[in-house]
Amino acid sequence: MAKLEMNGSYPLTRESIDKEITKKSAGNYAFGYLKDETFYIKYVGRSDTDLNNRIKHGVGDYKKFKFSYASSPKNAFEKECQNYHDFGEDKKLDNDIHPDRPDSSNWECPVCDIFD
Ligand SMILES: [Zn+2]
Repeated sequence: MAKLEMNGSYPLTRESIDKEITKKSAGNYAFGYLKDETFYIKYVGRSDTDLNNRIKHGVGDYKKFKFSYASSPKNAFEKECQNYHDFGEDKKLDNDIHPDRPDSSNWECPVCDIFD
C-alpha cells in the first residue's frame, strides 16, 4: 500500500495552517477528508518555496490537509510525482495534470517518462 508519509491530518483553515506550518520551506501537501478514521486523499501538491502560503489555495474547497517539509525543491517535486502516481492513476484525485517542473530545471519524474 502506497503511503503519503506526511504529518496530520489537520483542519484546512488559515489558523490551522499557520499553527502547524511555521517554517518557510519547500514541501508537500495533500487535501482530503476523514471518514471512519481514514484519510481520503483528493488532491496532492507541493511548493518549491513557501508551503504555508501555497496550501491556503485549498481553504474552503477541502476539509483536511496533511503536509511534510522537503529538504529541497527537487525533493518536493519528486515526492509530489510519487504521490501523484501512487494515488492519482485511478483518477480518484482532483489533480488534472501531472506535476510540473520549474521551466529552468531538467528534473525527471521518478516514476514515468513524461518529460522525455
Ligand atoms: Zn510521472
